[in-house]
Amino acid sequence: MHLTELTENVHEIAREGEMRVPTRVFASEPLLEKMREEGRTLEQGSNVATLPGIQKYSVVLPDGHLGYGFPIGGVAAVAMDGGVVSPGGIGFDINCGVRVLRTDLDYDDVRGHEQALVDRLYDLVPCGLGRGGYVRTDRDDLEGILAVGMEWMRDAGHARQADLDHCEESGRLPGDPDAVPEDAKRRGVNQVGSLGSGNHFLEVQRVTDLYDAATADAFGLREGQVVVMIHSGSRGLGHQVCQEYIRRFERTYPDLVDSLPDRQLVYAPLGDPVAEDYLGAMYAAANFAWANRQAMTQAVREAVADLFDTDAVDLVYDVCHNVAKEETHTVDGEDVEVLVHRKGATRAFPAGHPDVPEAYRDVGQPVLLPGSMGTHSYVLAGGERSMELTFGSTAHGAGRLKSRTQAKREYTAGDLQQRLRSEGVYVKARSGATVAEEAPGAYKDVDEVVRVSDALGIGTKVARMRPVCNVKG
Ligand code: 5GP
Ligand code: MN
Ligand code: MN
Repeated sequence: MHLTELTENVHEIAREGEMRVPTRVFASEPLLEKMREEGRTLEQGSNVATLPGIQKYSVVLPDGHLGYGFPIGGVAAVAMDGGVVSPGGIGFDINCGVRVLRTDLDYDDVRGHEQALVDRLYDLVPCGLGRGGYVRTDRDDLEGILAVGMEWMRDAGHARQADLDHCEESGRLPGDPDAVPEDAKRRGVNQVGSLGSGNHFLEVQRVTDLYDAATADAFGLREGQVVVMIHSGSRGLGHQVCQEYIRRFERTYPDLVDSLPDRQLVYAPLGDPVAEDYLGAMYAAANFAWANRQAMTQAVREAVADLFDTDAVDLVYDVCHNVAKEETHTVDGEDVEVLVHRKGATRAFPAGHPDVPEAYRDVGQPVLLPGSMGTHSYVLAGGERSMELTFGSTAHGAGRLKSRTQAKREYTAGDLQQRLRSEGVYVKARSGATVAEEAPGAYKDVDEVVRVSDALGIGTKVARMRPVCNVKG
């Protein structure tokens, strides 16, 4: 695979074969090296470039790594007119995403109470498969959640209006509950406010560094402050939606599947009934994911109120990193309506964009970028150049470096937990395997990923945090 360096941190794979556009890889030399070592990440990026209606180029972000069909850390914008939707460009965990809550606590208030806090959170928020959720819901409730997401949560008393105002899309996409398969609903009905497994987490962090004081102030962040980061998605419900629609797409377009460079790219033309159904179901699953993160927010509020006697737990922002959305972007000087697939990618709209919540309009959208349970995580702001370079997107994390199997071979849970404790990080997980799979060494260098995002001007550094204690799914 031949890459040409266009400018610093911008590389291009020229169009060849079935590719309709080139592939752009936004990475530094060391990050590019990791992608090459992994083997198929860049090839996946170029497979995406074959999609009908794709605009400009297929994007691979600095945290890019191997995914289902599309790379994780990938963006593809396809024309609403003549384009397609591909479930692999959204991922199995529909609207997997991150939110950050700010508190009025300082690290000194929490230090020494890590174990009590983690135990409380662990009791309130079920992890793993099954086991129910923090908010009890029945079938009717679920239908409401699928239709209107955070609005249902607010109307049922589980969210404040301010929570909706600080959420991407105000926590609601045009979901169609009728398009969600029955099996998916069955899996989702008792999981509102549950963490899920492995990579998902509920992490208490302290702000250690500020890079842009004015923007940090606008986000309500200050040095030494305790914040809580929640990473979870649409649980079994979203997974089932993705799985069943991939099967439906394959059954509807058998010839297409045979002609693809990778059958995992399977897509449907926008406007076809099966594509419209998928979009309605995918948006409904996204609504479910927001309700799920909101329910866990309520659990955090309960734990913090009980242990530290404060109700100042406010949502800074909530981002999706596995979703497709209709947006307007400028391509060759013209405004084009596109469906932007962001798979392991975060929207990063700059200051002034009308979709940035009013409170942040002057500084840009908060971008929440987790690292690992032993390294830093970041809050960035959508950068000036994101619209021009990456369809208003940046990385979604450090990105996986080692497979789960490889990590389990290399790390021992007990040693890791011991080491993290000596560094002041208290981790509680359902199983030792989870801890080993999620070892900080299993992820890439988050500081380098963020440095590249900042240098490119697609997502700029605002604040950096360190973990204090963590519930792993
Ligand atoms: P993904 O959605 O791709 O599973 O994960 C997003 C990112 O979260 C990963 O790329 C990784 O950098 C980060 N991450 C995974 N586990 C943890 C954790 O326990 N704590 C923090 N802060 N970040 C994590
Ligand atoms: Mn997920
Ligand atoms: Mn995720």
